[in-house]
Amino acid sequence: MIELRTPAEIEAMRPAGRFVAEVLATLRDETKVGTNLLSLDRRAHELIRRAGAVSCYIDYHPSFGASPFGKVLCTSINDAVLHGLPFDYALRDGDLVSLDFAASVDGWVADSALSFVVGTPRDEDLALIDTTERALDAAIAAAVVGNRIGDISHSIAQVAHGAGYEINTDFGGHGVGRVMHGDPHVPNDGKAGRGYPLRAGLVVALEPWFLATTDELVTDPDGWTLRSVDGSRGSHSEHTVAITDAGPIVLTDRSFLGVD
Ligand code: MG
Repeated sequence: MIELRTPAEIEAMRPAGRFVAEVLATLRDETKVGTNLLSLDRRAHELIRRAGAVSCYIDYHPSFGASPFGKVLCTSINDAVLHGLPFDYALRDGDLVSLDFAASVDGWVADSALSFVVGTPRDEDLALIDTTERALDAAIAAAVVGNRIGDISHSIAQVAHGAGYEINTDFGGHGVGRVMHGDPHVPNDGKAGRGYPLRAGLVVALEPWFLATTDELVTDPDGWTLRSVDGSRGSHSEHTVAITDAGPIVLTDRSFLGVD
């Protein structure tokens, strides 16, 4: 069921969005060559406790998960791209890091992800990251009243295909509200002008993610981490966006912190 939020409810979601933005900006800033993924998760947990927020991940146990996630942060490294379960690993020079974080504040959820390289970047990794960021910008620009879900999907796909990447539509954007995952599903590819009409009050997480040379994923033995079937690297960019009569509001925007 698709739920629409009142303007007052969208205002009430802003603290969650700001908190998630701050945590991701902080973690990115603190992540260096040598940083251990378990210490990143512990740091995120500390920030959650300090803010009185609630993790959306730690008890998360969907039908496809082997057991509850047990951590508060997804850390997907190099050829891992989604749902990366933090493990005992110290980041190496040139690693491509994707962090995905969702938490609720005052009973409202925000969900966001970013990708970056620690140490010396490869040009192809920077191009991949740039493409998911541009696809997210295009998705946000299409998240306006009068458009349909397909317009968002199509705008993401155009950016991906323009850069030569394939798209996997098994995992994509979703409604966000009192819980992390709601209707509608927002695929990362689709037909313009099709699907659910975008109405004021719809709040969705938009999340383009691409792999460099494949659209096929495999699941790690941990039951969670999704990585490319061919070892090529992945990137993931996500924001929680409220569609309003005045245009899209990016609730997890980090620009108020002076960072992108
Ligand atoms: Mg997310």
